Amino acid sequence: MQTDVAVIGAGPVGMAAAALLHRAGVAVRVFEARSDRLGQSRATTIHPRTLEVLDALPTADGGSLAELMVAAGTAVPAAHFAVLPDRLSYERLDTSFPFVLQLSQVETERLLAEHLEANGVVVETGWELADLEQDNEGVTITSTAGAQERARYVIGADGAHSAVRHALDIGFPGTSATSMGFLADVRLDRPPAHPHHWDVERGSYSVIALPGGRYRVFGHEPSDTGLTPEEAKARQADIPDETELRATLHRMAGDDFGLREVIWTSRAGDATRHAEHYRVGRVFLAGDAAHVHLPAGGQGLNVGVQDAANLAWKLAAEVAGRAPRRIIDGPQSYDAERRPIAARLAANTLAQASLMVTFTPAGQALRDLVSRLIARDGDTADELRGWLSGLEVAYDVSAGSPVGRRVPNLPLAGGGTLHRALRPDRLTLVAFGPTPMPDELPVELVRSLRGWEDAAAVLVRPDGHAAAVWRADELSASAVAEVVAGWTVVGEPATR
Ligand SMILES: Cc1cc2nc3c(=O)[nH]c(=O)nc-3n(C[C@H](O)[C@H](O)[C@H](O)COP(=O)(O)OP(=O)(O)OC[C@H]3O[C@@H](n4cnc5c(N)ncnc54)[C@H](O)[C@@H]3O)c2cc1C
Repeated sequence: MQTDVAVIGAGPVGMAAAALLHRAGVAVRVFEARSDRLGQSRATTIHPRTLEVLDALPTADGGSLAELMVAAGTAVPAAHFAVLPDRLSYERLDTSFPFVLQLSQVETERLLAEHLEANGVVVETGWELADLEQDNEGVTITSTAGAQERARYVIGADGAHSAVRHALDIGFPGTSATSMGFLADVRLDRPPAHPHHWDVERGSYSVIALPGGRYRVFGHEPSDTGLTPEEAKARQADIPDETELRATLHRMAGDDFGLREVIWTSRAGDATRHAEHYRVGRVFLAGDAAHVHLPAGGQGLNVGVQDAANLAWKLAAEVAGRAPRRIIDGPQSYDAERRPIAARLAANTLAQASLMVTFTPAGQALRDLVSRLIARDGDTADELRGWLSGLEVAYDVSAGSPVGRRVPNLPLAGGGTLHRALRPDRLTLVAFGPTPMPDELPVELVRSLRGWEDAAAVLVRPDGHAAAVWRADELSASAVAEVVAGWTVVGEPATR
């Protein structure tokens, strides 16, 4: 049976992509190597933009997947950058989700899996991709057991060691790990009052409260840094057990904080790699399959879900044969828009790595300086907050122009808000004033009760980013019609 899209990997990114494609009317199947859920709580931090994207996935009772996640997690008011003492408050952000959500990846994946099941999207478990081959009509995927399936398009969301990336022979250049920290999910009787501790002599550790009375403990001792690739590999394989974790905490803090139960331990390094292409013919890469980095500031899952959101509506349009070339392989294509974001992600996490593990007086001085800049709550804090929250991540922005930026969740005349009014299969034209808008355009037309960026009207893509913005003196029916035509002209179905 040929499906429209086969997603390889039922991690958070693969499942988010499948859910968004399904919502856009695409027939999608997911193929997952494991037979059971992983049970590793790796990502614990969910940022506002991720919740905005998942708010587009409705539940049967009129709510959304994001609302289920918020109900299952713990909302905290501020994010950290490089475990610096001064934090980035999210409380004044212009979003329906002005907080960091602490939620274990196990829970995020459970809720995504339940959403797929409720919507009839099949996840084939125990199906491990071995190879794929593509032709002009589609892609044949072959499992390690020799089973074959056909799909018109494939998304490789199969994690850092992606078999899809290998099958396409896509380069994954970058840097190997030079540090390898410890981490654990635990129960504690006496958690420390402050979450982050950093010391030139003893290194750094953090203790973050998770839902359900658990804590995520992570950090680096000075001996965990300055490693050769071989040393980093050996340390990665040497997962700390309870005795070692207790000893580490005593060495670093003089206390094990009443360590009562160890649920999971692991190690995390700063290997940073980025795929050379996100698309080859009919096959795409998303999430960790496309980029890996130090888990700092809670970004991998969040950026991966944004990959999925950027790709889903474009691929849905391509599947339906109504995609303009600009989103297939032009300036607004998935590859053109998302690869620069992963380059920023790499730079951001390497900068955090440097601040987190340079256990020298110079490292201490740099931390003090950056923390003070954050405490000032000026441009530095805004820049970091905008990036980490995902709310200021923008595509192809020219100086001063709001085109490419995310449009906030504006209140609409007639009730409701913009984000839930966005359609997965068409653009939305938001009018800010009484200006009459052209009829019979293939767009959803809404009126906002609040202004944005001095615009008279904005054309919003299904992923919530501005495709075009008009000031009052630029707005005319013909100007709108011309721009809309450039985004909705039926393109050649891609057969590259
Ligand atoms: C300790 C730690 C803490 C982290 N904390 C955060 C955080 O707070 N916030 C955040 O945003 N990110 C965080 N991350 C990163 C986050 O966990 C990853 O970025 C995220 O899991 C990536 O999701 P994914 O779906 O791309 O890949 P994965 O989660 O790796 O999922 C890939 C899936 O593909 C399957 N698969 C693999 N090979 C095949 C195959 N050949 N055929 C079929 N299926 C296959 C796998 O079994 C898996 O289910 C953290 C990571 C670590 C290690």
